[in-house]
Amino acid sequence: DEFELDREYQKRVIERERKFFEELKTENEVFDKRTLMILFSLLAGKHIDEFIGVISSGKEAVVFSAKKGRRYRAVKIYRVATCDFKTMHKYIQGDPRFHLRKSSRRQIIHAWVEKEFRNLRRAGEVVNAPKAILRRENVLVMELVGKRGVPAPRLKDVEVDYEKFYEIITRDMKKLYCEAELVHGDLSEYNILVKDDKPVYIDFSQSVVTQHPLSKALLIRDVKNICNFFKRKGVDCDYRELYEYITGE
Ligand code: ADP
Ligand code: MN
Repeated sequence: DEFELDREYQKRVIERERKFFEELKTENEVFDKRTLMILFSLLAGKHIDEFIGVISSGKEAVVFSAKKGRRYRAVKIYRVATCDFKTMHKYIQGDPRFHLRKSSRRQIIHAWVEKEFRNLRRAGEVVNAPKAILRRENVLVMELVGKRGVPAPRLKDVEVDYEKFYEIITRDMKKLYCEAELVHGDLSEYNILVKDDKPVYIDFSQSVVTQHPLSKALLIRDVKNICNFFKRKGVDCDYRELYEYITGE
């Protein structure tokens, strides 16, 4: 019957993806059992039809491209073994949205993903950011920013009209601060993608609400990063002025 067919289908998908993960292993991409189970559950639950490939592999997280129907997804998986959970804890602690009672390594990472998920949604209301679709423990599924499954380039890797981009990005920073009451916290040419000649902001894991005790320091860092990048591109800018423009102080 249909149910059995479905089970068969699931088995086949899991088998096929298992091969994908076996291949990953040979490239030193190893996940713990629990993370693998989450990935399989995303397939079984039809949140994802297939994984395509690795977009990025960093110390803390791996990002995969995946397909769901005719749409593409970016799946960000935190490496439980190598995450800097002490820093994570510091960022989560001052956030009024979270109350960490127990704080095992895994639980901190789960809260971290939850925070990134909520930040993405909140940021997405005022600036361009990938749509957050779901989170499960250390795994975050979002919309893939790109064209036909090919991820959009980072601002660092493309030529743009820098004067225009400086305008848009600084206006977006102000919107993020004043309307969404968020500070990105890791803003730079690495975490801004360029799609249809417009900036799309990613990697909101470190973002904090403006009430957070670290928010001022993080905003200053963001402002400096952005100014330094655009200065190198010949744009006349001053980080103190930018800070004033954003905060009104
Ligand atoms: P981290 O910097 O912590 O490793 P990021 O969230 O910045 O993680 O993702 C790493 C890289 O993966 C990004 O620089 C970008 O190139 C790519 N990437 C992340 N999210 C997306 C997305 N939603 N769409 C397209 N590419 C993405
Ligand atoms: Mn990043």
